[in-house]
Amino acid sequence: MHCPFCRHSDSRVIDSRTADDGTAIRRRRQCPECGKRFTTAETVTLTVVKRSGVTEGFSRGKVVSGVRKACQGRPVSDDDLALLAQTVEENVRASGCAEISSHDLGLAILTPLRHLDEIAYLRFASVYRAFEGLEDFEAEIALLRAERDLAGADLTDHTSPPGEQPPGSRDELTSSSP
Ligand SMILES: [Zn+2]
Repeated sequence: MHCPFCRHSDSRVIDSRTADDGTAIRRRRQCPECGKRFTTAETVTLTVVKRSGVTEGFSRGKVVSGVRKACQGRPVSDDDLALLAQTVEENVRASGCAEISSHDLGLAILTPLRHLDEIAYLRFASVYRAFEGLEDFEAEIALLRAERDLAGADLTDHTSPPGEQPPGSRDELTSSSP
């Protein structure tokens, strides 16, 4: 690898360590010519296999452009989309796969998209899970509702109703006085 400072054609590895839970290796290098140090990262190249059998490198940009259409008119920013693409890449890498079909990649986008925007999720899911009619939308919306109710119930579970004292606490306070 060329030195990024002086373009010398060689460099020496002075330290290497795994990073990102073992899915990447970072190497600290030193240029023997100018003596400057720099870091390189080595990761497995994620390959996306299209339905036609053609393969291409995974690209966060392509994830973003694929999802952007489903987000039209929705309160979703470019930063949201960039973060979503990053999450998708991290999830796919964490699964240990070096190769993913474009269809599975679409499915991997669904969960983070659901947390980002439910309408965009429904639009995207209708394509990638091949919704055939209203029943499919209804089933999906029922799932979203159930999930939302579950999240709501979770919030109230941790707080005790107002005005109710845990049993025994008042007795302990007064028991020492005659
Ligand atoms: Zn150099």
